Amino acid sequence: MDLLPAWQQNMWERLMRDGTLRSHALLLKGRPGIGKYLFAHMLAKSLLCATPDTRSFACGQCVGCNWFEQHSHPNFALIVPDALAVILISQTSDAYRSTEASAVSSSDQSAKQRTGQQITVDQIRGLNDFVYLTGHQAGYKIVLIYPAETMNTAASNALLKKLEEPPENTLFILVSHQSQRLLPTIRSRCLQIAMPAPDIEMAIEWMLQRWPQRTETGRQIDAQQRDKQQYAHKLLALSGFSPFTALSLLDAIEQHQQFIEAVSTRARFDPLALAGAMQKQELTVTIDWLQKWCYDLTGFLADKRVRYHPDLQARIQSVCQQINLQACLGYLQFLNARQPLSRHPVNPRLFLEEIFIQYGRLLASESSVPEFDE
Ligand SMILES: [Zn+2]
Repeated sequence: MDLLPAWQQNMWERLMRDGTLRSHALLLKGRPGIGKYLFAHMLAKSLLCATPDTRSFACGQCVGCNWFEQHSHPNFALIVPDALAVILISQTSDAYRSTEASAVSSSDQSAKQRTGQQITVDQIRGLNDFVYLTGHQAGYKIVLIYPAETMNTAASNALLKKLEEPPENTLFILVSHQSQRLLPTIRSRCLQIAMPAPDIEMAIEWMLQRWPQRTETGRQIDAQQRDKQQYAHKLLALSGFSPFTALSLLDAIEQHQQFIEAVSTRARFDPLALAGAMQKQELTVTIDWLQKWCYDLTGFLADKRVRYHPDLQARIQSVCQQINLQACLGYLQFLNARQPLSRHPVNPRLFLEEIFIQYGRLLASESSVPEFDE
């Protein structure tokens, strides 16, 4: 499987061929979710590789490549908002899948992350030693700034100064979803590259190649393949035709299905295992799912109303046969009270365990109504 998406290959070859890289600053621009970050990342790695292959891709084996993969290359600086740094570092092995999508959806994430959503002037000033002192073995240095439009005004001005007096042997790669938000003076000092977006067919093919492997039994391979195709089309449309974003939606949808599966079967409900399974996900998202689920349980018990999970009516009905409306209301109240704490939990795992242990009591509320401490 080729690492570079098909729709980027011509661009890659063009860049490698026509000497564009002698420029001291590039601006890769285009809509979110089409793989710009991946492209910039591969470009940086290839330029720092001692023995790139015939198509100029990094070898993946030299010392430079090793450093790069360990995030410790002395000649590479990645400048991203704090909130994004966490996501990028945690995705090292699979940066391909959802890096851009995470960046795109980060505005929906917790308050904790909102505080670090800008690139600050300190981050840009912190580059001084890096760009103006001699690098490792006097080699080429690369600064990757992503997403460039998140630089605040002071940071933009500090970068502008550097672009006005470009340090030697240094390439700035700016990646932007909204390049019109950059200072015009920054834009004009960069070689601007409009990153290609895939057509639908290419996007679907790319998604299907990366579709998570699952073992499904009792169904024909052809039928599975047809389902996937349809599903891929649906997600692609949902994502505004950005395949990276579409795949990350798939992750969330699958996770959501597993979550629903877990919370709707009393016999197999295991609060500790569920807390373990959900701890990779943003805590506020999990609480949101649970609130919506309990809201529907309550609505169904009160007057057969289902708002958030219209396709799961039958399942909701079967859960509701085992629980009590008053307990459901009590649990919802408990959840609502806990929800603000989910933004700053002392221990996320314990927080989830407590929430699910209490939910387990709700699932057994047919015979006696539990009280939930708020
Ligand atoms: Zn290499």
